[in-house]
Amino acid sequence: MPILNLIKNMRQLKKSEQLDAGQIRVLQKERFGDLLKHVLGNSKFYKSFYQEHGITIDKVGEVTLQDLPTINKKIMMEHYDDFVCDPALKREDLEKFISDPSNRSKKYRGSYQVIHTSGSSGTIGLFVYGANDWDMLRALVLTRVSKTKISLFKKTKLAYIGATDGHFAGISLVRGAPRLLMDLLPLSVNSPLGEICQKINEFQPGALSGYASGVYLLAGEQIKGNINIRPKRVMCAADPLTAKMRETIRQAFAIEPINFYAASESIGLAAECDISQGFHLFDDWHCFEIVDDDLKPVKPGEPGKLLLTNLYNYTQPLIRYRLDDEIILADKPCECGCPFPLIESIAGRQEEFLWFEKGDGTKEYIHPLVIVEFVVPGLEKLQVVQTQRNKLLMRVIIHGNKEDALSAIRRRMTEILEGKGLENVVNFEVEVADEIPIDSRTGKFKLIIPYDG
Ligand SMILES: [Zn+2]
Repeated sequence: MPILNLIKNMRQLKKSEQLDAGQIRVLQKERFGDLLKHVLGNSKFYKSFYQEHGITIDKVGEVTLQDLPTINKKIMMEHYDDFVCDPALKREDLEKFISDPSNRSKKYRGSYQVIHTSGSSGTIGLFVYGANDWDMLRALVLTRVSKTKISLFKKTKLAYIGATDGHFAGISLVRGAPRLLMDLLPLSVNSPLGEICQKINEFQPGALSGYASGVYLLAGEQIKGNINIRPKRVMCAADPLTAKMRETIRQAFAIEPINFYAASESIGLAAECDISQGFHLFDDWHCFEIVDDDLKPVKPGEPGKLLLTNLYNYTQPLIRYRLDDEIILADKPCECGCPFPLIESIAGRQEEFLWFEKGDGTKEYIHPLVIVEFVVPGLEKLQVVQTQRNKLLMRVIIHGNKEDALSAIRRRMTEILEGKGLENVVNFEVEVADEIPIDSRTGKFKLIIPYDG
């Protein structure tokens, strides 16, 4: 029975939380060795790729993660049929499967969970989880993010708000919630607001999850009196949870939202600590390397890019996969006493940094978090598009007094540019919009669109 497998995984994950950081490291190393053996035996791609680097199955015991070459989405997709460890999976068939809308809530051949993504690079990515992999992932999220108590007698009522019309990571994960433990209400961010409000009011969720922007929208409706719900746990992922959103959610539901770090490559990478600011990386089932452009590990407190190794997906294993998310490791262990490393921040994708060129040819950037935290009165929603190297277009949705809001936006942006010495380098325009569309390929809203030239 799949539910028993899930419960077994959940118990094992709970047990790992009692270990210390050193014991987690031992567990991680064992799991890495097992995975390496598995790919050398089952993936044509990994076998020949590693062989080129002198790594063969008889050397598994001596090989460390750092001895292996890195991969990325492009390499994985180019070699897809040889890359996966299951001969039943073919890229062409999978692409056909996901492009048929009648398959949206279905598993491929009844057992494989297929996730697709594109990301700002535009490279389509397919990620397949086999039944066991998916059980481990679900257990990870249930244990450490939604913190579901195993009870077959009282179901948790979970409402999810996000893009629901595709094989996106978020909706696939909540659809995978075991029905014995949970009742689910999926809500599409693209549905009329009145319909969303009516459904969620009737449902009365005990837990609420979804895109930060979607949860924020519901918090606004609660404050206006259009809905009246009392979730005991609120979880956000996918798009940035800004300071303003967090405050509104807290005010609406009298609860602190938990931010959750997920990617199609693993939909359970880390979750925000209940006590401190920052996220705990689940490094018992992943290896996280935070590196500079030359793949050298960076020091805690310094930003680096994430190289991910997913230790539970045996169907489409990712080893030293460049995720390109910008991460800063905290320089002290967390006060909560949990064994998992703490990260101070995840600053979106590397592409989301805005780079400018000064008169003397040197480069300067604006950190995405500065845009994420762009809060001024009257500003409802923002998108920053870099239309030329030194030119920004700010698309804004505003409410209240238009002139006041616009001058506040201009003041704040000028302040940011002055902080970087860019006030005479970068020009910006503010454009008032009624709506800012989500990216149709990813189903996600894009806050920053950098110059592509
Ligand atoms: Zn903590």
